[in-house]
Amino acid sequence: MILIVDDKEENLISLRAFLEKSGIDVDQASSGEEALKKVLKNVYSLIILDVQMPGMDGFEVAENIMGFSKAKDTAILFLSAVNIDKQFITKGYLAGAVDYITKPFDPDILLLKIKTFNRLFDQTQQLNRMQRELEKEIEQRKELESKKDEFISIASHELKTPLTSVRGYIQLIERMLNKEPGHPHLLSYIAKARSQINKLGELVADLLDVSKIASGKMDFSIMPFRFDKMASEVVSNLQHIHQDYIFISDNFFEITINGDEMRLEQVMVNFLTNAIKYSPEGKEIHIKMALINNELWVYVTDFGIGISKELQDQLFEKYFRVEETSVRFQGLGIGLFICSEIINRHHGHCGVESEIGKGSTFYFSIPLTTQPIFRETHLS
Ligand code: ADP
Repeated sequence: MILIVDDKEENLISLRAFLEKSGIDVDQASSGEEALKKVLKNVYSLIILDVQMPGMDGFEVAENIMGFSKAKDTAILFLSAVNIDKQFITKGYLAGAVDYITKPFDPDILLLKIKTFNRLFDQTQQLNRMQRELEKEIEQRKELESKKDEFISIASHELKTPLTSVRGYIQLIERMLNKEPGHPHLLSYIAKARSQINKLGELVADLLDVSKIASGKMDFSIMPFRFDKMASEVVSNLQHIHQDYIFISDNFFEITINGDEMRLEQVMVNFLTNAIKYSPEGKEIHIKMALINNELWVYVTDFGIGISKELQDQLFEKYFRVEETSVRFQGLGIGLFICSEIINRHHGHCGVESEIGKGSTFYFSIPLTTQPIFRETHLS
């Protein structure tokens, strides 16, 4: 939109009619003061200013407008009965684009100038937008970079802990083998070392997954498989390892879905191990399946520490960990990020409902792209 400023009503009417006929959006002011008020409220691409006005003349208006941040990209076109001294123009309007046209003006030239200024304005706006986006991106990158540094230090620590204990167990085993090869503790030390090695393997696999996601190289092998069978196996394996927890499977019906079984198993394991890890007091974990609108929904509920509402949106972001509990619970803050990538790649979505101190339900849904082989048989 452009603003035309002239003290003579008849000039405003004829100029406005001419510009509107040419498809230009026009606003008007009949004095310098009114123009300033309008510039404070609206953004104009161009202001056409009559130079000779009683009260505040065109140059004064331009000088004032120069100080308004709203008008920093607005061009000014002076309309004058006489040729304007160049010095006057630079004095009147130093900051933005400025031009003048003498009266009586040639309408074609005026239109040409207006179009050029409008184009300039649009380009400047676009550049400003790009600059804002770039600044935002730089900010985000900086933030990610600092999170990455923090992550590397946590990851090194997480990797070092099992390595130290593996080294310790191997030393013990060596010593016992030399002294007393039949020592009853030998096998248990080997088992402990193996379990720490498994932990290391899982950490390294998660780290590799994050780098695969970053480079777009996480491959999926989509095939039909019995989801309920896989889920039951995961639950019973974890039940075997964590005998102090009670795992309750609800509505486990037979269903064959199209997906990457290993990757979806990884999501189940992640949700369930988080449920265990973050519910040191609550010993029940519920796993529920549902079929809603041709989508498979899986819910994992724990009665643990819970997560406050404000943080729930960030849980699936890379490197996110709840600050207050990060010292108490070890972790890298990448498990849920990997889960969300896996579920997204199955065209589904992940979510959470949680209340501090009461527990959490983590869930995911996967659309059934092909007709499911489905029978309402409850396995447990
Ligand atoms: P981590 O290795 O830190 O557990 P995740 O990506 O699996 O990484 O989880 C990210 C963060 O979300 C965790 O650090 C924890 O703060 C929070 N979180 C995940 N699952 C639960 C849960 N079941 N209960 C409470 N907090 C959870």
